[in-house]
Amino acid sequence: MSESTVRIGLVLPDVMGTYGDGGNALVLRQRLRMRGIDAEVVEITLPEPVPELLDIYTLGGAEDSAQRLATRHLQRYPGLQRAAERGAPVLAICAAIQVLGHWYETSSGERVDGVGLLDATTSPQDRRAIGEVTTTPLLPGLSAPLTGFENHRGGTTLGPEARGLARVTRGVGNGVGDGLEGVVQGSVLGTYMHGPALARNPELADFILTRALGVDHLEPLDLPEVDQLRRERLRA
Ligand code: GLN
Repeated sequence: MSESTVRIGLVLPDVMGTYGDGGNALVLRQRLRMRGIDAEVVEITLPEPVPELLDIYTLGGAEDSAQRLATRHLQRYPGLQRAAERGAPVLAICAAIQVLGHWYETSSGERVDGVGLLDATTSPQDRRAIGEVTTTPLLPGLSAPLTGFENHRGGTTLGPEARGLARVTRGVGNGVGDGLEGVVQGSVLGTYMHGPALARNPELADFILTRALGVDHLEPLDLPEVDQLRRERLRA
């Protein structure tokens, strides 16, 4: 590893990582390597403290009980919070949005204090949101429709410090009737999209990479198989 190696934290893949969400870290690493930039994935598992000096952090979705274990761990070892404060990009998928909020209620109605990185709260909705989700991004710098697979019962309400990542055109998204999907606050970006999200949405992957590298622009990668995947999923 050289000093310029980009280090991508895959946070608690042993408890959070449904539907291949760990793939988001691999997509980031691969898109860097294809551009000749050294990159490695650092897995942070349950017994370990969360390091604060990585360049990017990704967190995946989880079932309620695993989600609670992860919440406790992140509160005990606040490396992620310190990294976000200094502006390191954090990608939070599904349950991870809920964990990073002020609090969330489990499907049995119990309220759990979150990490407080996002001005967001989550409560169970009457119906589980499950299926394809397609959205139009609201975040400046993104223009392509976003595509993912959602499976959650929690509905997330955003407070004034947080903004929606996108507007839902198909599916449920945050699920509280405001038409929004995902959340953006500072360097933290959350979405209910599994997929993994960054395999389906290369523009979003490169958005995170430009922020991590502190550059305005990255040369696009010509990957016909990714275009084909997008066409297929956007039609599904
Ligand atoms: N347990 C959470 C919910 O159902 C998150 C699920 C997930 O991450 N897929 O809302």
